[in-house]
Amino acid sequence: MIEAIGNTPLIRLKHASEATGCEIYGKAEFMNPGGSVKDRAALAIIKDAFARGALKEGGTVVEGTAGNTGIGLTLVAQAMGCKAVIVVPETQSREKLDFLRMIGADLRLVPAKPYRDPGNYVHVSQRLAQEMGAFWANQFDNTANREGHRHSTAPEIWAQLDGKIDAFTCSCGTGGTLAGVALGLRDLAQKANVKAPEIVLADPEGSGLYGWVKDNDLSVQGSSITEGIGQSRITANLDGSAPDHAERISDSEALEEIFRLTQEEGLSVGGSSGINVASAIRTARRLGPGHHIVTILSDGGARYQSKLFNPEFLKSKNLPTPPWM
Ligand code: PMP
Repeated sequence: MIEAIGNTPLIRLKHASEATGCEIYGKAEFMNPGGSVKDRAALAIIKDAFARGALKEGGTVVEGTAGNTGIGLTLVAQAMGCKAVIVVPETQSREKLDFLRMIGADLRLVPAKPYRDPGNYVHVSQRLAQEMGAFWANQFDNTANREGHRHSTAPEIWAQLDGKIDAFTCSCGTGGTLAGVALGLRDLAQKANVKAPEIVLADPEGSGLYGWVKDNDLSVQGSSITEGIGQSRITANLDGSAPDHAERISDSEALEEIFRLTQEEGLSVGGSSGINVASAIRTARRLGPGHHIVTILSDGGARYQSKLFNPEFLKSKNLPTPPWM
């Protein structure tokens, strides 16, 4: 199972490429065994914990997550003879919660609270790990997360495009994917003696990171129905990664891309992938034709059936609905 994580295909996105005259690619992270990009972080964090002796066979991993990291950690933990206790805000999609229960995670739901509140899921998971004497994965500030992407996702992308990459864009939850891929691609470009690709942060409404990149201002406005992305602080994983540019993408723009990918390209993806593809298209328009741009297809659409593919829910939020429904 461990060996099945990573080495995902890089898929040329037809509409995005044809509309911009660039070659736009999505890394198919929804094909990981746990169904998301977070399998890589889970594997990197658990491997590092084993190497440091912080976790041993028979031990327990505790983590606070929007769901995908919990799924990855539970599966990797079980593959390595451990157990997982997963703390999730109760606002996350029913599909992710059901999946966690289905695979045997010890699931603890908590009310959604801001990070500054001691009842926030991240702080609850830290306290729980301390009380249990268990290993706390700490995906936001444990840089084993971004190191995993630096040494797997980045070299895979580089090899898949033979080093021909002008820009990379993705959204951030922990920032592990964006920062790890940025650091990895910058290392590889330096070794090859070529210009490093531009790193573009893709941010939903209700996140502070766009303002951080543009004006060094982390204040937050608006909100988003996307899950697992958006951040209002500089996590240890993001620290020192310095994106070159940022795009802020609305839910409507992301949904249009998700519906088009489904209907015209047979790719069923979740909300953050829509934000990512919309950002890749904006980046292509800004750079002009002839560029190679890579983004992340973070997870699959089935994880959000009751929200992103539910016309009643979408209408209640004044958002576009899937044209075929
Ligand atoms: N997309 C989805 C669907 C996620 O679950 C997450 C992680 N919470 C991300 C994107 C962001 O990834 P990262 O934590 O590496 O920034």
